[in-house]
Amino acid sequence: MAQLIDGKAVAARVRADVKAEVERLKAQRGLTPGLAVVRVGEDPASKIYVNGKKKAAQELGFNSWEHHRDASISQDELLALVRQLNADPAVHGILVQLPLPRHIDAELIISTVNPEKDVDGFHPLNAGRLSLGRPGLRPCTPLGVMRLLEEAKCELSGRRAVVVGRSNIVGKPQALMLLQADATVTICHRKSDLPREVGQADILVVAAGVPELIRGEWIKPGAVVIDVGQNRKADGKLVGDVEFQSASQRASAITPVPGGVGPMTIAMLMRNTLTAATGGV
Ligand code: NAP
Repeated sequence: MAQLIDGKAVAARVRADVKAEVERLKAQRGLTPGLAVVRVGEDPASKIYVNGKKKAAQELGFNSWEHHRDASISQDELLALVRQLNADPAVHGILVQLPLPRHIDAELIISTVNPEKDVDGFHPLNAGRLSLGRPGLRPCTPLGVMRLLEEAKCELSGRRAVVVGRSNIVGKPQALMLLQADATVTICHRKSDLPREVGQADILVVAAGVPELIRGEWIKPGAVVIDVGQNRKADGKLVGDVEFQSASQRASAITPVPGGVGPMTIAMLMRNTLTAATGGV
């Protein structure tokens, strides 16, 4: 049976470390990290995510502001809001919750965020920095996965890592981070021969958004399996992209859903905000 990688416990440790550093910053430099979250429209999932981020920011002693705008906001008005936050010295991190309404060019909005305040790590400059192996703010979910792998004492150097999914927010940055850690990396997508590729993986990270896409029997015995997927079933249950029961029989370590990668994303967002506040990238 695989060892469970407890994302909740690791995330709690990350948050406790951030909280202690925030207290030190306040005491020594009179500096309070500030996170501004922009939410547009009434997407229910976005509301839940933003509430979680605000709550975490408050718990860790950050200043936090939610700028909620109606779905009818024009692109120019939203750009003006982002520029105002860019110029505000109390705001160290800016997060624009996606998705945005269709009439707004999300890429333009993201590119307008000051890259040094881009705590989501989605700005093209930060994506470029990651791809060049240079320091920069990194996307939170793959950063959280790297932390989980570290906590699970998973050796990466020289080992085969397979990432299922090539999105700009999870799959691609994940593959680059694993490459930077000297793994030999394969990226899979819809045209890939999944059973063959997955069967090669010493480390498997799945971010496809398809419930139980990865069958347990494909997994190489002893592999470390990280399931980023969060899929809500009709009965309301949350399931990952990996068949958990059968995969646990073959993997040496595996993340559960929920309680695996999910809690890490917000924790790493807090870590990124602290990094942005201290200019410590
Ligand atoms: P996305 O933008 O929809 O990308 C999904 C990727 O998976 C695409 O590259 C797609 O391939 C690939 N894919 C889909 N079906 C596939 C299949 N049958 N075989 C092989 N590849 C397939 O999704 P995302 O934003 O990266 O998110 C992925 C999952 O992670 C979702 O469940 C999401 O909820 C979850 N997520 C969780 C967190 C967290 O905090 N835990 C954060 C972000 C995302 P193509 O490129 O060929 O279409």
